[in-house]
Amino acid sequence: MTSEKKENCGLFGIFGDAESVQKTYFGLYSLQHRGQESAGIASSDGEFIQCYKGMGAVSRVFRSGSGILEKLANPIAIGHVRYSTTGSSKSINSQPLLSEYSRGQVAVAHNGNLINAALLRAEYEAHGSIFTSTSDTEVIIHLLAKPTHVSNPDPLAHVLNHLQGAYCLLFLFADRIEAARDPYGIRPLCIGQTDRGAYVVASESCAFDTIGAKFVREVEPGEIVTLDKRGLSSRFFVTRGTVTPVHCIFEHIYFAKQNSTIFGENVHEFRKKLGRRLAIEHPANADVVIPIPDSGTSAAIGYSEQSKVPFDMGMVRSHYVGRTFISPSQKLRELQVKLKLAVVKEVVDGKSVVVVDDSIVRGTTTRGKIRTLRQAGAKQIHMRVSCPPIRYPCFYGVDFPTREELLANNRDFEQIREFLEVDSVGYMPMEGLLSSANLPADYYCTACWSGKYKIPVDAAENKFALERYQMHMFDDWSQTNE
Ligand code: SF4
Repeated sequence: MTSEKKENCGLFGIFGDAESVQKTYFGLYSLQHRGQESAGIASSDGEFIQCYKGMGAVSRVFRSGSGILEKLANPIAIGHVRYSTTGSSKSINSQPLLSEYSRGQVAVAHNGNLINAALLRAEYEAHGSIFTSTSDTEVIIHLLAKPTHVSNPDPLAHVLNHLQGAYCLLFLFADRIEAARDPYGIRPLCIGQTDRGAYVVASESCAFDTIGAKFVREVEPGEIVTLDKRGLSSRFFVTRGTVTPVHCIFEHIYFAKQNSTIFGENVHEFRKKLGRRLAIEHPANADVVIPIPDSGTSAAIGYSEQSKVPFDMGMVRSHYVGRTFISPSQKLRELQVKLKLAVVKEVVDGKSVVVVDDSIVRGTTTRGKIRTLRQAGAKQIHMRVSCPPIRYPCFYGVDFPTREELLANNRDFEQIREFLEVDSVGYMPMEGLLSSANLPADYYCTACWSGKYKIPVDAAENKFALERYQMHMFDDWSQTNE
């Protein structure tokens, strides 16, 4: 997993379990790969909502022995882990966002990116509204509180129809959870059930495995699911089946965890299919197939199965290297890369090696790893990538570098091969990617490869679009981060 492309966010919610808050904590832990900048839990006893959140990973925010989970202990809970896709990484932008309006309290947790947030915020500010964060999620609370929306027979459905872009949302009201997914189903959201019958919602089904819940189904695009004392009920805020889905296929390639089922398919199995197809598209005369761990592992297994070239772990990843806030020199940075990803010399020395990764963004990290393999004695290196070359930014909740920084921008395959310093390079063709998926090809977003944005975007928008004014809030990084 490289740090060049950042996950979006992870959501978890549970209604009516005696250990709801503890299960939210463990659910968030299993979704930690979707965001490590901040974490938070809001819980309700049926009348009042309370919330605790902070900067850093789940284990950091909810420190063992701090008593925070005990204070939050209530039967209804939602949680959030964040990577900032709109709004910078500050405590004011951490979630859930807890507010009070004319109908009582509400806490909101969001995964995705609203492409009309700046426009909506400008409209509210023109009428005197005051915002306290720079994240796009706060706009949703203002929409909910607007008097003409409050008086609507279904205020939430009405509000969701004002949003454009990618969103999975959890709303915690004092007596219930409402979970919603945008009409295109860009990001995943699914429903589970514990053995005690409590309903659970989460960004990925891996969270259900962790708390011993079973997968029930995905929240459908355009659906609102209510979890309350009557159980689970559903309604649609767009006419069901009228919108062609735009699922982010990058969730399958990189973001989601291997044991998750998203868009109707297990992630590990999908990645193995990509590997098998990659071996057909780009065979190599090699002694061993190795992955860039962890995200390249499933595809490398598939490549090995198809090519009959043995699979081995030529690199091992340390899971104990934390985030650092010092600005290290180039030499220290190289040392940190080696610390994170160590080469097993015995596997690659004197060999012709196929290296499989899920994707390449800037290319500099990949080249660093290639150089390490050469230093360990690899004779030939054949780079294989299980998605097409990334050439465009994402506006639907994933943070890539600028277009100019992308390796494949304005480079042909031979120039990419030279840059990476490999003997050959082979990317998955778009047709191979889409035909490997279970759903029809036009159900997926492919914009970061094709530049075809199915939901219109303003190319000038960026993650700091709502930060016209610097908000001076003190973030105590020394206490809240590694
Ligand atoms: S542009 Fe790429 S990362 Fe963004 S939603 Fe589309 S497929 Fe996913």
